[in-house]
Amino acid sequence: MGTWKKRTKAVHEGIRRSQYGEVSEAIFMTQGFVYDSAEAAEARFIQSGEDEFIYARYGNPTVAMFEDRIAALEGAEDAFATASGMAAVNGALTSLLRAGDHVVSARALFGSCHYILDEVLTRYGVEVTFVDGTDLTAWQEAIRPDTKAVFFESVSNPTLEVVDIKAVSKLAHAVGATVIVDNVFATPVFSDALAQGADVVVYSATKHIDGQGRALGGVILGTRDFIRGTVEPYMKHTGGSMSPFTAWLMLKGLETLDLRVRAQAGSAQVIAEALQADAQLTQVIYPGLPDHPQHALAVAQMGVGGTVLALDAGSQAAAFKLLNALEIITISNNLGDAKSIATHPATTTHQRLPEETKAELGITPGLLRISIGLEDPEDLLQDLRKAIGKA
Ligand SMILES: *Cc1c(COP(=O)(O)O)cnc(C)c1O
Repeated sequence: MGTWKKRTKAVHEGIRRSQYGEVSEAIFMTQGFVYDSAEAAEARFIQSGEDEFIYARYGNPTVAMFEDRIAALEGAEDAFATASGMAAVNGALTSLLRAGDHVVSARALFGSCHYILDEVLTRYGVEVTFVDGTDLTAWQEAIRPDTKAVFFESVSNPTLEVVDIKAVSKLAHAVGATVIVDNVFATPVFSDALAQGADVVVYSATKHIDGQGRALGGVILGTRDFIRGTVEPYMKHTGGSMSPFTAWLMLKGLETLDLRVRAQAGSAQVIAEALQADAQLTQVIYPGLPDHPQHALAVAQMGVGGTVLALDAGSQAAAFKLLNALEIITISNNLGDAKSIATHPATTTHQRLPEETKAELGITPGLLRISIGLEDPEDLLQDLRKAIGKA
């Protein structure tokens, strides 16, 4: 299986067939497992063998299929599936860090990631330094000999800043720090984050991996040592594990992930170019456009601009008018979905940030995040153009 290409792994890797020889992966909707004897139960609690399960919070066959499949796709030794993307971000950071540790994080983060770094970790005595993730000098100045970890979104939500995984990893590894990358926007299809230097990759599977708006999920990927030695003990005792039903949804999502995100990224590129040419908007932000500040880096790192673009309508009133005039694109706050979704981050996903932080991050009153789905790109473009006209 090691020589298979990503698309083959996405369909076949990790499968565990029951005695019935089912084609589609079975949903082992069970929280527990029976033992042949009291001695067998004792033995399994001392040291469970491969494919020996104890309790669904610790592991489950359907969840293991998802973990093996996504680990193979990402090129990671192992994975731990979590109840949500935030359980993955929290699990990766909290299982590693202790009071007194120092972390350097990019400032441009999803609202809940910012909460974990800025409010949770600091509450337990972890020191966090925030930097402009696109500024390598800032990373260099902030990383200290005692820095334990660095954290960033490889493409930031929602401002689409691209962080140089290779360069930041080099700075971090020089002091022995662990590099944790929230890689949602790159998706396992476009990601080469581990080869580029990341030690740990985290996904919200809620986004492209499910891709059809059904379930929350997440995953932490890394070395077997890190996943089984550091992450698993923390996750299995604190309750953030993925449910078997969710794992099944995510497994089926992985089978079509490549087709979906390539189509979505292709449409996003076409739509971003067309809207930029219209020149009615203050700004079209998309890593696939040559005028994006990290365009060359985005292409080198992911090969494409991704499935999400951002528009600046100029003011909150104009942004709201635009949103309310959309007919195909829905107003919601997921991304990576088959349905195109428009979000006003300043009043929803990033509402809790202080005004000055929003300004610092470029989350302006007119900013709209547009996740491009699987609809016909011509229909989406027409929908956006009509709405922009009304705004
Ligand atoms: C959505 C998202 C998360 C959180 O994922 P959930 O599945 O909603 O918990 C974390 N990081 C980024 C970059 C996201 O876009």
